[in-house]
Amino acid sequence: MLIDTRTGGRGAIGAERRRVRGEMNFELTEEQVQVRDTVREFASREVAPYIQEWDAKGEFHREVLTKMGELGILGLPIPEQYGGSGFDYVSLALACEELEYVDTFLRVIMSVHVGLNSLALLQWATEEQKQRWLVPQAQGEKIATFGLTEPNAGSDAGSIETVAVRDGDSYLLNGAKMWISLADVADHFLVFASVDRAKKHQGLTAFVLERGMEGFTTGSIKGKLGVRAGNTGELAFNNVRVPIENRIGEEGEGFKIAMSCIDQGRFTVGAGACGLTRASLDASVRYGNDRHAFGAPIGKLQLVQQMIANMVRGYETSRLLTMQAAELKNRGVRNTRETSLMKWHACDVALKSADDAIQVHGSYGFSSEYPVERYWRNARGAVIYEGTREIHTILQAEYALGYRQDKPLRRPQPAAVGFEVPDAILAAG
Ligand SMILES: Cc1cc2nc3c(=O)[nH]c(=O)nc-3n(C[C@H](O)[C@H](O)[C@H](O)COP(=O)(O)OP(=O)(O)OC[C@H]3O[C@@H](n4cnc5c(N)ncnc54)[C@H](O)[C@@H]3O)c2cc1C
Repeated sequence: MLIDTRTGGRGAIGAERRRVRGEMNFELTEEQVQVRDTVREFASREVAPYIQEWDAKGEFHREVLTKMGELGILGLPIPEQYGGSGFDYVSLALACEELEYVDTFLRVIMSVHVGLNSLALLQWATEEQKQRWLVPQAQGEKIATFGLTEPNAGSDAGSIETVAVRDGDSYLLNGAKMWISLADVADHFLVFASVDRAKKHQGLTAFVLERGMEGFTTGSIKGKLGVRAGNTGELAFNNVRVPIENRIGEEGEGFKIAMSCIDQGRFTVGAGACGLTRASLDASVRYGNDRHAFGAPIGKLQLVQQMIANMVRGYETSRLLTMQAAELKNRGVRNTRETSLMKWHACDVALKSADDAIQVHGSYGFSSEYPVERYWRNARGAVIYEGTREIHTILQAEYALGYRQDKPLRRPQPAAVGFEVPDAILAAG
């Protein structure tokens, strides 16, 4: 095992760092611990004291993004040459876990800004495009999101209705997107449109849109079950003229790009779900020791213990699957199957844990006096977005049955900074 010590990185979490290459290792490095502790401290100081109120009022607090940017969190896994902090995927997972321990809206920021957008630009964008969009995103100066879902197409992405018609050196985009995180907040939007709807998936093409483009408007969705402190909304394109320089990849390559984005986004969702499970566990342990029934703390009751034991088991298995996916990502090894598995498992566990945490709290769990009802409302969304529970079930069955194989990509996912890419991946790329 090689250890590479160097200094660098942006922001407060970019101090002395040690890098372990190439093997699954359950011990965190000093820099991974530093990332975890910095993010934990940030979330508990800047968000935890206010989250119950923000959630109740449905308020998004933009200043949180500024602070995340200053700490280097918004560019955590992006190489320093593109303005990021250059940390590995284990660090990214730990950051997502700590953020979602406090509230899901914080992790959603990482999912769209880092997972679905910046890491996709790192993989697919040209050098010029990286300088133009990735660098300010990694530095936290611009906020980014991802728009695939539409009013009439979610899981069935090949059926999207947004069209891009070539007109000289640009495209004219018309259509709408729905359920887009940070719709009313983001500056940059990685969106997908079809250049030929008859071709279904093969017609999809990726574009970067910037706020302020003529004909491009955004709006927020009200009345959400969860992630109420976050912003979720819609995008509308009315003859938006998008220069050809804003196209990411080739015409018709959009579906592959979208699936690459989702490989990264799902990872942040699954890692975050570990945090939500841990929050449910901690709240249940506290309550189990405090609340008395039949002359003893309810933690002494075996059926309460069973719920707590299930949370422990679910947390540990989710975390192991997260570390497995992180290790593959660190080395630039294809991880679609493993990432789907960890996202599916960790989100199911988080929802069940939050549900059981409400049960442990009895009637108090049914009230916003305790945080567990918020955990449940937040956990509910994650079994819908980034692949519904049913889509992951089908994916896993198809891999097991041999009906699905991953094809090599024109641009493979880059390994984490400081990690070696296996020769086989270089040859395939
Ligand atoms: C809080 C939140 C944030 C989101 N953020 C974003 C974002 O930033 N960007 C973005 O693009 N999207 C975002 N989404 C949208 C999300 O990704 C979609 O809602 C999701 O992909 C499911 O699509 P759908 O809602 O259209 O459901 P549908 O695809 O219509 O599915 C409806 C039901 O049918 C089932 N189903 C569908 N196909 C199959 C199948 N083949 N086999 C079995 N069952 C099937 C589904 O599992 C589901 O139960 C967000 C959603 C939420 C709730």
